[in-house]
Amino acid sequence: MTPSYDVIVIGAGHAGCEAAHAAARMGLHTAMVMPSRGTVARMSCNPAIGGLAKGHLVREIDALGGLMGRVTDAAGIQFRLLNRSRGPAVQAPRAQTDKALYHQVMLAHLMRTPGLELVEGMAAELILHDGRVGGVMLADGRRLTARAVVVTTGTFLRGRIHIGRENFSAGRLGEAPSVDLALSLESHGFEMGRLKTGTPPRLLRETVDFGKFEVQHGDAEPVPFSFATEQIITEQVPCHIVYTSEVTHEVIRSGLHESPIFGGRITGVGPRYCPSVEDKIVRFADRTRHQVFIEPEGRDSDEIYLNGLSTSLSRETQRRMIDSIDGLAGATILRPGYAIEYDFVQPTELKPSLETHRIEGLFLAGQIDGTTGYEEAAALGIMGGINAARSARGEESVVLGRHEAYIGVLIDDLVTLGTREPYRMFTSRAEFRLLLGCESADRRLTPVGHRLGLVGQDQYERFLGKYDRVERYLSWLGASGPNRRDLTLMLARPTETIESVERTALDAPPVRLTVGEAAVVEGKVKYRGYIRQQLKEVERLARDESRRIPIGFDYAAIAGLSGEIVEKLTRVRPPTLGQAARVSGVTPAALALIRVLIHRTGNVPSRVSVAPAG
Ligand code: FAD
Repeated sequence: MTPSYDVIVIGAGHAGCEAAHAAARMGLHTAMVMPSRGTVARMSCNPAIGGLAKGHLVREIDALGGLMGRVTDAAGIQFRLLNRSRGPAVQAPRAQTDKALYHQVMLAHLMRTPGLELVEGMAAELILHDGRVGGVMLADGRRLTARAVVVTTGTFLRGRIHIGRENFSAGRLGEAPSVDLALSLESHGFEMGRLKTGTPPRLLRETVDFGKFEVQHGDAEPVPFSFATEQIITEQVPCHIVYTSEVTHEVIRSGLHESPIFGGRITGVGPRYCPSVEDKIVRFADRTRHQVFIEPEGRDSDEIYLNGLSTSLSRETQRRMIDSIDGLAGATILRPGYAIEYDFVQPTELKPSLETHRIEGLFLAGQIDGTTGYEEAAALGIMGGINAARSARGEESVVLGRHEAYIGVLIDDLVTLGTREPYRMFTSRAEFRLLLGCESADRRLTPVGHRLGLVGQDQYERFLGKYDRVERYLSWLGASGPNRRDLTLMLARPTETIESVERTALDAPPVRLTVGEAAVVEGKVKYRGYIRQQLKEVERLARDESRRIPIGFDYAAIAGLSGEIVEKLTRVRPPTLGQAARVSGVTPAALALIRVLIHRTGNVPSRVSVAPAG
């Protein structure tokens, strides 16, 4: 008998885990297809989660009811809140994680999720019925049917690894690539391209001389990722810092001729903000040293990760490079660094729901959409899973706005502009940064997650309790009378904190705030003016955002639009006037023409949206 599901998720990486969990939590019978359970939530590269903008994404995934934040809290071995000295909107959590534990905790969560089945096998081909996806054919001949499919195959589509002049097919070192599925997608006419990424060599811990390095400790009071975690009590481990030298740079320069990138054997574009060490030596030729973070791959792991030393130079050059660094000389290389080149699908092939334009019910999420990073993948995964579930039930898709979430910015950028290089999230990509602080992710998104059935009743009630305390505290701060001044004015000053205000207050606050609640109060008070301004701007843009462009709108029929604009808009198919405005090259004059025509042909109601933060 053919096993039948509501939703099938292909892949068990960071996108796949969130997608499958979300669909199953929403009550859909879901299958997650992967080569083996051992591949669940494997961290292909660095043993860390979060950082600026990426930490924001994790908080948003958590607020929606996703897993990444909770799993990181359980598997973290060193936590740091970045930008601690700056305002709450730009602070972000980052954690070193124990890779093996991260996999185990995620697997345990998935196995406990009702309605979710883990199926071991390689997906080889999409099954279609009348232009809609109907299921997946596995490489061993099994057929699985479903009403929606989410593809989350990361770097595996026609993956090819390069180490110096050596190169071979693989999805990651030691894992088979996914060739049949790439051919299946290609046969349906998807616009695909090649990207590349790289990873550093791993060393045997006991052969490294830690006495030669600077030490970097975690925070004394670790701040959790998840809104559900009250406290992190696990013992933290230190990381270390070392520097490359002029000798290292000379070794690298002498090995460049055998580099697959400089030798022209790799054509895929790499992540600009995560360059290989050879890229750094060539691009910043005047720098005499570069920082390398020595990070453990786990609490008890014997592997060391060299953050900053990603490379695809030959094994011999990597050996000489390691030997040139103080404290690393002679260390055993467990696995060489390598670059991997893989296929991605141009994200302009996707609607804002992550469903493909070409095949109804087919969703693509994660690195296959042209991104880089675990957090970006997980963010796309949760939205792909949510919308696949809604599509399987015949419901309208959920799309987050740019003012509502970094997830909204990520998806809008990808589907509107497409990408020519691995896309990574930065806070600077969001025009409404002050509305999108890490601390406010639950206020912005937990009601959405609750409505969708992803956030449980317990978590939702804790959320309501938190904002009730925040409101009571804000009323206390703002109260004024003959013997009391309005303390919000004092807290609004950059140098003041909740503690300093409470010290000078004549009366006690009605509640004792947790660290997370204090961050919310400070964010609200300190940014009040800016937030008001940004909300006004959001309102103005919302008018264009809510003006839908009818499906199948014929741009070619508009006299006065240039051929280039017609081609771009026909390819991207923006669902709203707001999104059309962000397609590169679309002029205000072109928008005015389209506005007039949609007005004549009639409007349809706006997409699902949530209330702005504030
Ligand atoms: P992945 O984590 O790649 O997961 C894909 C999943 O799909 C795997 O479980 C795989 O087994 C499964 N799969 C594939 N094909 C099939 C199939 N046909 N059937 C069933 N299952 C299938 N990110 C950074 O931010 N910075 C970096 O420096 C960086 N360096 C990297 C270096 C390397 C060598 C690699 C491989 C990745 C690197 N990344 C880096 C990227 C990071 O690993 C990814 O962004 C992230 O893992 C993507 O998550 P994903 O869920 O989309 O895919």
